[in-house]
Amino acid sequence: MGCDWSRVSLTGHVGTGVSPVQASQLAPVLGGTKVAALCAAGQPRRLSPRGLWNLHGIVIPTGAERSERRGGTLCLAVPEQPPSCARPGRWDTCPYVGGGRLLIEGTIFMQRINLGDFELTAVSDGIYHLDGGGMFGVVPKSLWERKLPADARNLVPLGLNSVLVRTGSHTVLIETGVGNKLSEKMVKIYGQPAHLLQELNAAGIAPDDVDIVINTHLHFDHCGWNTVRQGDKIAATFPKAKYYVQEGEWKHAHEHQRDAVSYITENYDPLVQSGQMTLLRGDAEIVPGISVRVYPGHTRNMQAVLVQSGGQTACYISDLIPTSAHLDLNWVMSYDLYPIETIESRKRYYAQAVPEKWLTIFTHDASVPWAHVVEDDRGKMAVRA
Ligand SMILES: [Zn+2]
Repeated sequence: MGCDWSRVSLTGHVGTGVSPVQASQLAPVLGGTKVAALCAAGQPRRLSPRGLWNLHGIVIPTGAERSERRGGTLCLAVPEQPPSCARPGRWDTCPYVGGGRLLIEGTIFMQRINLGDFELTAVSDGIYHLDGGGMFGVVPKSLWERKLPADARNLVPLGLNSVLVRTGSHTVLIETGVGNKLSEKMVKIYGQPAHLLQELNAAGIAPDDVDIVINTHLHFDHCGWNTVRQGDKIAATFPKAKYYVQEGEWKHAHEHQRDAVSYITENYDPLVQSGQMTLLRGDAEIVPGISVRVYPGHTRNMQAVLVQSGGQTACYISDLIPTSAHLDLNWVMSYDLYPIETIESRKRYYAQAVPEKWLTIFTHDASVPWAHVVEDDRGKMAVRA
């Protein structure tokens, strides 16, 4: 673009990992200025105030580059002079900019890619924290913490990633996060970030615009925004949408088994009763290009969502591979009800997704909403660099 950029870095993570807390920490540094650009960079460094008074406009990359580079540290690209290519509030290009999202002064950016004729936008309900041991099962901490460092309480940050698919004919929302109906006790444990509607709004989507909602399963962190409280009633958050889940999953939610604590009936029973939620029996096409496929393991009837257009495929694989740190066949969560089946399902998934170059969408990765999975030289699954 012919812009002369110099760079300063600040501590913080690109991806859904930027929380409002971090944004408010940035606010005093940034003052009333707007961010010129942000990009992925190397190791975290302290924010340098140099040149910040030149900040203006908001520049985010366009096209494929946006989704190609992931994770890492936020980096502000600071123009010495106001560049003509810096325009507030729109996507634009700069030589250093990678994918990412940042919440500053109420402005949200999210990753967006085209898949054939479809457009995919990664939106998030925010970040929550779970025990690292729960997330990695029998894997020794000395191994998993290299990929996902835990805090002093052994908690690891996790994303609540949803994907919005615009097919041209339909607006499809895959997964609906934690929502805002948690009990006080659950809020104490998990927090209640409740960002999803705000992020959808930033993506230009009102609740009325969504005509299909797909839940991979009914654990509370995957279907929370299915419904909202209106007075003493429960109402559909997306009033014009048809909702979909597997019938077996819905039945299981009522069986009071080991994971009973993860189910909140208000997230789905009112929709089943009103007929707004369809209970599926096995693999199914929802609309052209959007289908579901059952991969047992995490629960018996958890379904992944396949998005296919123009010969390309993306797959919201949900808790079968919750983050990009869970690619190894045997790195199975303690939460999984059927860990051996998780391994078998992952094998079945990789056998198709790797050779066919599917884009894998991670439900709980706080910084990598999606990536292509490849087999490295040692036969290990890895995210394509
Ligand atoms: Zn789950």
